[in-house]
Amino acid sequence: MTNDDQPPADQAAADPPQNVGPLDASVTPRYAGIATFARLPRLEDVPRADIAVVGVPFDSGVSYRPGARFGPAHVREASRLLRPYNPAQDVEPFFQQQVADAGDIAANPFDILGAVGQIEAAARALQQGGTRLLTIGGDHTIALPLLRAVAAIHGPVAVLHFDAHLDTWDTYFGAPVTHGTPFRRASEEGLIDLTASLHVGIRGPLYSRSDLRDDARLGFAVISCQELELEGLPRAVERMLARLGNRPVYLSVDIDVLDPAHAPGTGTPEAGGMTSRELLTMLRALRGVNIVGADVVEVAPAYDHAQNTAVAAAHVAYEIISAMTPDLPPDSPAATPI
Ligand code: MN
Ligand code: MN
Repeated sequence: MTNDDQPPADQAAADPPQNVGPLDASVTPRYAGIATFARLPRLEDVPRADIAVVGVPFDSGVSYRPGARFGPAHVREASRLLRPYNPAQDVEPFFQQQVADAGDIAANPFDILGAVGQIEAAARALQQGGTRLLTIGGDHTIALPLLRAVAAIHGPVAVLHFDAHLDTWDTYFGAPVTHGTPFRRASEEGLIDLTASLHVGIRGPLYSRSDLRDDARLGFAVISCQELELEGLPRAVERMLARLGNRPVYLSVDIDVLDPAHAPGTGTPEAGGMTSRELLTMLRALRGVNIVGADVVEVAPAYDHAQNTAVAAAHVAYEIISAMTPDLPPDSPAATPI
């Protein structure tokens, strides 16, 4: 924003302070400067934030390819091209609310339970004052401490989980906390409203039929990729919104819900996934849903090509932040010129 965009002094005195948006790309080129998400201000540079984007560079819970610890930096780099107006949702997500980049949560790579404790503590601290978190992983293990932090405020939340995988397995090699188990542990801990939770995008071979049975017994609903293909997107959107109702929702997006053609840079790829267009369409339908927290996880840059996966993840995060944006009062002028 340039000074010319500021309201006159008398108007500024009467109006609430304007939110600080991204760097003005007509002044500082998008490829210049240190990467924060969407070139937003750092959290310490604003008085408070409605939404904090925070990275969790942790991947000690993976079962196959490692590398998602480098996800936050990679997604931030790919988010430089995001622009302030979202025509698909008709919102300016960075001006109608204060969004800021909170940097990364330091998590011990040699101690999964220790890291989970660190992530929960940091998330709880960031949430103070009503800030909602959009977390960039990291592997899916991090959803457990993030759900603990959200449930501490809201009680059990509806979980909307986009993933090729159920992530409700019990243990791997005897380990109870991995990227394949967060929603089992969270269910056992009473963090999830299982009357309103669902997985979207499930596909691929499983260990046995009991995987699906166990998941259904916990209470999750499923919209599989096959159902998406056969029933179409409008029906899937309808089922998703009906399932969530008006409950507080925690939204968790494993980037491997996308087909490897759209998101090769991930740890456990499965063929036959969603297109990025399908995923973005479903996320846009969440406008008006009470999203109390969200994550985008499992971006592993070592397997990415041409930033495809990171660009997809950046756009996923952007659509989520847009869906979390409050409506402008009908009589208010646009927060900033477009
Ligand atoms: Mn997955
Ligand atoms: Mn997952």
